[in-house]
Amino acid sequence: MAVPFRRTSKTRRDKRRTHYKLEVPGLVKCSNCGEYKLAHRVCKSCGSYKGKEVASK
Ligand SMILES: [Zn+2]
Repeated sequence: MAVPFRRTSKTRRDKRRTHYKLEVPGLVKCSNCGEYKLAHRVCKSCGSYKGKEVASK
């Protein structure tokens, strides 16, 4: 197995970690009620998907 030749510097390590982000992916606004919902899923506040009501509560 390959072994790193040099220790990764603090700067290099921290620069790599600038891409690490704390966020929920795929959160979009519902086209029907404007509530935030998960993309490609039925809206949990109005039960619609692609402009049609598919679930009721
Ligand atoms: Zn909705």
